[in-house]
Amino acid sequence: IELKRLRKGGATIGFVPTMGALHQGHISLLKTAQKRSKITVCSIFVNPTQFNDPADFEKYPITLNRDIEMLVDAGCDILYLPSVKEMYPDGFKQNNPINFGFLAETLEGEHRPGHFAGMAQVVEKLLRMVKPHMLFMGLKDYQQQLIVGELIRKRRFKTQLVALPTLREKDGLAMSSRNVRLDEAARKTAVQLSQTLSWLKKKLETRNSELGTVEREAAEKLKSNPAIELEYLQIRNANTLALPKTKKEKLVALVAAKIGGVRLIDNMLL
Ligand code: AMP
Repeated sequence: IELKRLRKGGATIGFVPTMGALHQGHISLLKTAQKRSKITVCSIFVNPTQFNDPADFEKYPITLNRDIEMLVDAGCDILYLPSVKEMYPDGFKQNNPINFGFLAETLEGEHRPGHFAGMAQVVEKLLRMVKPHMLFMGLKDYQQQLIVGELIRKRRFKTQLVALPTLREKDGLAMSSRNVRLDEAARKTAVQLSQTLSWLKKKLETRNSELGTVEREAAEKLKSNPAIELEYLQIRNANTLALPKTKKEKLVALVAAKIGGVRLIDNMLL
């Protein structure tokens, strides 16, 4: 209701949806949202339908008091904190799910069945409620932001999607809510994901190496460490996630691995 009043008054609304356990990556999205819109809305909702692994859902970090403090400090205007009942009054079943095809079936879609259907379900609900002019998301979840772009097109939302760069720790590890679950050894190992992506990027820039060869070499590097359980490391077309045909396409390298029982993802535009 408050948003309706503000919208009528001509305020542009910028929206940052999250699952909480906020870190500087989330705050960077909020800061850009503040620059580009009058009113910033952040939501915190740990969406049950996008967790394919119940244990991952159970262990998802919740730090609500700290999150609220961070949002107040950052000057967020409105925090939306819905309950499961509020988001899913009629249960979890989707009546008209979007078929994203290959985009949602490959990579994360393959390793986390149902994840993107659940994510799209909740993002669609949030967009209908908040009706933002702009939606700010991280490139950290590369495939997710491509799918949300499709969602906006397919459902003809008037929202503009703005995808922003990944914030990293000093050593290069992509900031993630799940990082707090890494023990000391796993935290040290985790840096290898971003290091390997940087290595791969550099190798393609400086040498006339073949995509497939570099991709294989990078995967081998990670697999040679027994502490890393590699799920995939792939070079794909950055717009479609299709297997690349030439090095001239816009490319992205994406990786997913379990380290110390924590599933991490990262990616790098090439
Ligand atoms: P999450 O709470 O993990 O669902 O993330 C909420 C939003 O923050 C998503 O759009 C993410 O892509 C984005 N995000 C997560 N980690 C980072 C990061 N390290 N840098 C920038 N954005 C991020």
